[in-house]
This record gives sequence, structure tokens and C-alpha cells, in this order.
Amino acid sequence: MKNIVVIGAGTMGNGIAHVFAMNSFNVNLVDISQAALDKALATISKNLDRMVKKEKITEADKTATLKKINTCTDLKDCAGTADLIVEAATENLDLKLKIFRQMDELAPENCILATNTSSISITQIAAVTKRPEKVIGMHFMNPVPVMKLVEVIRGYATSDEVTNTTLALSKTLGKVPTEVNDYPGFVANRILMPMINEAIITLHEGVAGVAEIDTVMKLGMAHPMGPLQLADFIGLDVCLSILRVMQDGFGNSKYAPCPLLVNMVTAGKLGRKSGEGFYQYTPGSRDVVVAKAFV
Ligand code: NAD
Repeated sequence: MKNIVVIGAGTMGNGIAHVFAMNSFNVNLVDISQAALDKALATISKNLDRMVKKEKITEADKTATLKKINTCTDLKDCAGTADLIVEAATENLDLKLKIFRQMDELAPENCILATNTSSISITQIAAVTKRPEKVIGMHFMNPVPVMKLVEVIRGYATSDEVTNTTLALSKTLGKVPTEVNDYPGFVANRILMPMINEAIITLHEGVAGVAEIDTVMKLGMAHPMGPLQLADFIGLDVCLSILRVMQDGFGNSKYAPCPLLVNMVTAGKLGRKSGEGFYQYTPGSRDVVVAKAFV
């Protein structure tokens, strides 16, 4: 495999492009928004600078990595030579089905079609293509250059060959792939999202404030980040979509999103990427400015 296309240049897409390029793959990063592509390149460059500063890579590695990444706003312009396409566009079923129909039409016959979806059924996505055996979940964790796990999700029709290729490829990227089956939320989010939702319900019911809830989970459970800060980091819109997919998929109200989460997403408070969620952020920075008062 040489040529990788990454669709979606947001939080995850830029990290996925970064990791493939750093491992000498040719990367085409595609987004409908030129602004998102510009922002992604700036983020990748900033993240590479951080790695140079920590002496994990050299300045020459940084230059070589950036050279491996091209950007485009139309999949038609770069899908023709792809060996693997990783879709990392917005978490929305209809959008993903539309993109997979296009990927299937434009990509070479042997190309593997992967999705970074957090929760949407791989089997359902595969069913709109003519190559369901070549469709697989490749669920990277955020931030992609740092986090070791790739949850590799087999759809109902995914072949052994494609699964083994994807597991091996993840190892080439320095990741630890873990194979799981295709049920709503897979493993990571089936366990993580109910915890985040419960933290939001705890806040909503006035049991404790944002900083207090996160402190309990950080110091009491040795979590590196509290659940509310983690929700901001993931994106509150992403958390809401995942909970809804699990609520629908299992038909179980235990996954029903807290009304406070729904309100915040409706109000455009999406966490770090919008500058405000459970915390407020300095634009363009990871640093928390202040925990918002909800109670
Ligand atoms: P995001 O909102 O940061 O970025 C999504 C990008 O997709 C945007 O730049 C948007 O312009 C682009 N896009 C929308 N429609 C498109 C199209 N038709 N063609 C090309 N680009 C298009 O979202 P994100 O957080 O990066 O999430 C992307 C995917 O990764 C989702 O499926 C999400 O569930 C999954 N994921 C997210 C996280 C996380 O922590 N945020 C972790 C693991 C997986």
C-alpha cells in the first residue's frame, strides 16, 4: 500500500493524515471546505513542531512528512490511485452513506474502504457499496498521533483478508490494533459514552460542578482527563450522535442523552473546537481557561 486518501480534515482527519504521512505513505486529504484543509495543514505543522521540540523527530522528518500530504476539495481528483480510503467526515449516517457510494464508484476495484466512524454500523455502510467485503472500521483515537489504539471493526461481510491487511497496516503505523465486531458503539464508545453521559447527568442534577466532577474522576479513578473535559475534547456533537446511535441501535433508554448535552449542542457549544463546552478555551489552544458554572 502506498496511496492513502483521508476524507474529512477535522479533528480526526488531520491526525490520521499526519500519522500516515509520517510513515511515508502518500496522503491526499479531502474536505469540502478549503478552510478546514488550511486549518488541518496548520495543525499538522504545529503538532510536528511539538514533536521536533520533544526530540521525537528531526526538522528533516517534519519537512518530509509535510511533503507527503496533498489536499483537495473533490474526491474525484484523487480517488483513482488510492489503495486505501479512510473516511473521517462528520458523524452522520446519511452523509457517510453518500460518501461511501462515491468512494465505491471512484476508487480502484482493490481499494479498501475504511471508516473512522465512532458508532455507525459498518455493515450498514458496507451495504451501499458493491464491495462489502472490502469495507471495514478503522477507529483511531483522539489525538491520533499520540494514542496507540486502533479499534478495527469487522462488518458482517468484511473478509478475513481485508481484516488482516488492516490489522497489519495499523501495526505499520506504530499502533496497537484490536479487532472487534460490529455492534452499536463497538467497544470503546459503548463503555465510554455512558460514563460521559452520566457525568453530564450528575452535573445537570446539581450534584457537583464541572471541576469537582472531573477532579473526582481524575484523582479518584486515575483517569488522565475528567469525563467532562474529555467530552469537550471529543466534541459534544460527536458525543450526542454516538449516544443516539446506541439508543436507536439497542432500543434501550439507558443510552438516552442528557437534556443538557442536547441543549448545549443545539446552542452551538461543541467543546474545544467551538471555544466553549463544559470549559472555555482560548481560540486555537488546548488550554482550558475556566470551567463554566452550571449549578
Ligand atoms: P469534525 O467535525 O472535526 O470534522 C469533520 C470534517 O468533515 C469537517 O472538516 C467537514 O468539513 C468534513 N466534511 C463534511 N462533509 C464532507 C464531505 N462530504 N466530504 C469531505 N469532507 C466532509 O469531526 P471529527 O471529530 O474529526 O470526526 C470525524 C469522524 O471521526 C466521525 O465519524 C467521528 O465519529 C469519528 N471520531 C471522532 C473522534 C473525536 O474524538 N472527535 C474520535 C474517534 C472517531
